[in-house]
Amino acid sequence: MSGSLLPVTFGGIEAAARRISAHVLRTPFAPSPSLSERLDVPVGLKLEHHQTTGSFKLRGACNALLSLPPAERKRGVVAASTGNHGRALAYAAKAEGTVATICMSRLVPQNKVAEIRRLGARVLITGTSQDDAQREVEKLVEQDGLAMVPPFDDPAIVAGQGTLGLEIVDDMPDVGTVLVPLSGGGLASGVALAVKSQHPDIRVIGITMERGAAMKASLDAGRPVEIAEMPSLADSLGGGIGLANHVTFSMCQALLDDVILLSEAEIAAGMQHAYALEREIVEGAGAVGIAAILAGKIDPVGRPVALILSGRNVDMDLHRRVVNGETDLLRENAA
Ligand SMILES: *Cc1c(COP(=O)(O)O)cnc(C)c1O
Repeated sequence: MSGSLLPVTFGGIEAAARRISAHVLRTPFAPSPSLSERLDVPVGLKLEHHQTTGSFKLRGACNALLSLPPAERKRGVVAASTGNHGRALAYAAKAEGTVATICMSRLVPQNKVAEIRRLGARVLITGTSQDDAQREVEKLVEQDGLAMVPPFDDPAIVAGQGTLGLEIVDDMPDVGTVLVPLSGGGLASGVALAVKSQHPDIRVIGITMERGAAMKASLDAGRPVEIAEMPSLADSLGGGIGLANHVTFSMCQALLDDVILLSEAEIAAGMQHAYALEREIVEGAGAVGIAAILAGKIDPVGRPVALILSGRNVDMDLHRRVVNGETDLLRENAA
């Protein structure tokens, strides 16, 4: 592993673990009898959807916030995410006695706006697109000196997400394969560096949806590329990796052994299995590891498998329809 050339180090992940330990939960790691039987090797689930704010994003957000010089931290942080990163940053800022400003477009649904406000953030509504919101972020960085905290392409974010990898190796020392949900690649970069620094022969496989897999397209092209975004049950995996990506593309290129793509029906089956067999409520992005196993797309090569249930922030009406097997939902999403 060409670890010395990467923008994040194993020491950086260990430092992140110390920095955030009092601020995030050490989530449980649970065996899955049903998936173990299916693969004929032990399969363990990292129940990270039980993390405070409902996803692993709190790890990176806390590490980025606590890595800022105190004066900067006090001035506040800013981001354009309305999803799990926005929630995590809102919570982390409030917990550290500062304020997160979350910029969002007028098209963001009221319930999402209310949720981010409830977590203590200042919400700034502007324009009609994610790009408009991002321009507002840049304005606040210039005018008010707020610190921008990006959702994945940042060394402190990657190091924070990597703390999950340390816990997985602690809880399953003989793990052979780790399945990681993949979007911008902050989670996959951090977890892969954490586990491979300890045991270089652990395989790390990124899992994402067929529709709009920006990191997969970029890895295939050998450089960051843009692809059209499409609706998916795994909405937390949407969005591009940024044409100017400077951290996660090179790390995923160096550290991921494979990337597996899933259809909407396969993701739905993963959510159903999580609910019915594991008794866990997970969002689409959080179910892709289970989904990949059920789809027969994982060969464990005779060694134990760990997978990350990365989040649970799903609209409960949508979740009910998925676990009830409403197939018109998949057609809606496939439109
Ligand atoms: C953000 C997110 C991911 C993907 O993480 P990246 O670092 O962008 O690859 C996966 N699952 C959930 C629940 C998320 O919120």
